[in-house]
Amino acid sequence: MPIVWKKKLQTPAKIYYKFEGNNTSGSHKLNSAIAQAYYAKEQGLKGVTTETGAGQWGTALSMACAYFGLDCQVYMVKCSYEQKPFRREVMRTYGAAVTPSPSMATEIGRKILADHPDTSGSLGCAISEAVEMAAKQDGYRYVLGSVLNQVLLHQTIIGLETKVALDKYGIQADMIIGCAGGGSNLGGLISPFMGEKLRGERDYQIIAVEPASCPSLTRGKFAYDYCDTGMVTPLQKMYTLGSGFIPSASHSGGLRYHGMSSILSQLYHDGLIEARSVEQTAVFAAATEFARVEGILPAPESAHAIYVAMEEAKKCKETGEEKTSFLD
Ligand SMILES: *Cc1c(COP(=O)(O)O)cnc(C)c1O
Repeated sequence: MPIVWKKKLQTPAKIYYKFEGNNTSGSHKLNSAIAQAYYAKEQGLKGVTTETGAGQWGTALSMACAYFGLDCQVYMVKCSYEQKPFRREVMRTYGAAVTPSPSMATEIGRKILADHPDTSGSLGCAISEAVEMAAKQDGYRYVLGSVLNQVLLHQTIIGLETKVALDKYGIQADMIIGCAGGGSNLGGLISPFMGEKLRGERDYQIIAVEPASCPSLTRGKFAYDYCDTGMVTPLQKMYTLGSGFIPSASHSGGLRYHGMSSILSQLYHDGLIEARSVEQTAVFAAATEFARVEGILPAPESAHAIYVAMEEAKKCKETGEEKTSFLD
């Protein structure tokens, strides 16, 4: 429990967090990258293709592929490729080939560039390019770092570890807060707690936090949509802003996805989780304050959850409630 932060916020609320950033990929994504690279190797593949936004997924997969001796080709959203040159070089260090997307290397990339020559790219475009390249090369498959059920399954490790830790210390959370891009980290975090909630054993207030620039749960439609801009993937029922949606070039690259995991979408539709969208400037102010008291420089994505935890802690100050919140 961050004692200093609690003091600084002068709140009766108790706040706990799970830090997944202590690896080179800087995020929870290695949990799924290792599993996916392992199965790709077992299947006898030569390599995999993928997309990356801010670069965390691409980094995690590059690391995993290096461990298993697989080739790794990453299509990185162009604005992040330019905003975050160190990320792209880390991927190259692990042996991945990194291409800014949309690119001239694929048919879909050329088409997107012909229609929108100045586009800063999107995860949807990068997915289309990665899928096309996997289909064109023997022994290659496309892998995705979030959204899909198997990725949520791998990420349940976050929730399982959290539950063990909370149970061990006899802590009962009232609220669970997580940022949501494609939804795998939040989906994984809440899975054991949602089980308790669905079975009527315990209740939790669960909040998904997304950027105001890419508000798929709070502003999207619950409908069948493509996972990519080029409309080559299977349809997925989810909250979506439309597969052609290109978000502004905000810093939270990992949250700039037009859709949301089907599992989280259904839970949101059924009123079992809430969603909030928040502005980047307020999020960065919260991240700065958190860094100064906790010593951890949070990712822009995680800072979305930090901001909402802070707001909720301030509310408890007004009402005097001793709520316990958990964030990831
Ligand atoms: C990718 C990423 C996210 C978003 O994860 P989803 O599982 O797609 O919601 C959040 N935080 C960090 C640090 C990330 O790298």
